[in-house]
Amino acid sequence: MPNAPTASHTVGTADDRVDLKTMDRAGLEEFVAAHGAPRYRGEQLFHWIYGKGVSDFELMSDLPKRMRQGLRRDATVEAIEVVEQQQAADQTVKTLFRLPSGRQAETVLIPAIDERGEAHRLTVCVSSQVGCAMGCEFCATGRMGFRENLTPGAIFDQVWHMNEVAEACFGRPVTNVVFMGMGEPLLNYDAVLDSIDILTDEDSLNLSAQKITVSTVGLARRIKDLADDQRRTNLAVSLHAPDNETRSRIMPVNEAEKTSLPALKEALQYYSRTTGRQITYEYCLFKGVNDREADARNLAEITRWAPSKVNLLMYNPVEGLNFERTSEEQLDRFVEVLVQEGVTVTVRRSRGQDIDAACGQLANDEEGG
Ligand code: SF4
Repeated sequence: MPNAPTASHTVGTADDRVDLKTMDRAGLEEFVAAHGAPRYRGEQLFHWIYGKGVSDFELMSDLPKRMRQGLRRDATVEAIEVVEQQQAADQTVKTLFRLPSGRQAETVLIPAIDERGEAHRLTVCVSSQVGCAMGCEFCATGRMGFRENLTPGAIFDQVWHMNEVAEACFGRPVTNVVFMGMGEPLLNYDAVLDSIDILTDEDSLNLSAQKITVSTVGLARRIKDLADDQRRTNLAVSLHAPDNETRSRIMPVNEAEKTSLPALKEALQYYSRTTGRQITYEYCLFKGVNDREADARNLAEITRWAPSKVNLLMYNPVEGLNFERTSEEQLDRFVEVLVQEGVTVTVRRSRGQDIDAACGQLANDEEGG
């Protein structure tokens, strides 16, 4: 297999020029209009930045010379830079990026390989923040605390780069995107929505919104916003506990009334009514915490709030955290109870564990600014 390519983008300078990668198509059109150029110039900029991955204004050959000079003076096109890339035994690729701020974020490319050895699905797991403020007790990223929100362009860059890796390593482009890397995407709401608009634009990567999944810890108000904003993406909720008490113990966000399970129930029912879309619950099994038969029955009750399915995840222990992986027998029993209760359930086996690319393992040692 060929080596995965590294990004050739350059990192822009830190000054008072505006970063065009903070903007989507509408933002670029407004930017050029505010500078006295016709709006279609914004479309041309979009094409160069998000359709061709170009950061250098001099290469944007269909823009008038004077406009290129003005852009160099007033704007930059910031891009992320590859720091390190690793490939796991199961072919999962993890890339560590440096953001324009100097902080670092991680992205994972997860191939689903069929019996013939071909990748039929290529999923990019993107980060939307550096670190995370949610502080889930079992999560390596949560231990870092919040550092920075990523721009729409930095989210786009992760997919763009992994698309090149996918083409080079597997001979086909990325098919799916999941917002399940570092951070809580709904706390960087506008940038995440803008990045979705960019990724699904036919002049960019032209991904199907239905192949994009936004995963949240369960921020009720933002889930309703997502329903109202109608992007036709999928919604995954990191549930991980089937009752308020257990959930508050392992996920501090659940302690606040407006993000507790009753509030989540109301928001998910609103989401389901408004979008007609199914909800996916992510449920990671922790030994002795949430893996009993009674927990499975409580989880089944939750799945009746709205049309939904459950992904069961096996925990990847993180050094220094007090959580253990549940046994295979306990997993089997848990699945059995859910099936008896009529729940649609899939067991997701972790990928890329040997390079710390699996769920809950994303964290890096940089201290940030
Ligand atoms: S599990 Fe997700 S929401 Fe919780 S701390 Fe980790 S990154 Fe944040």
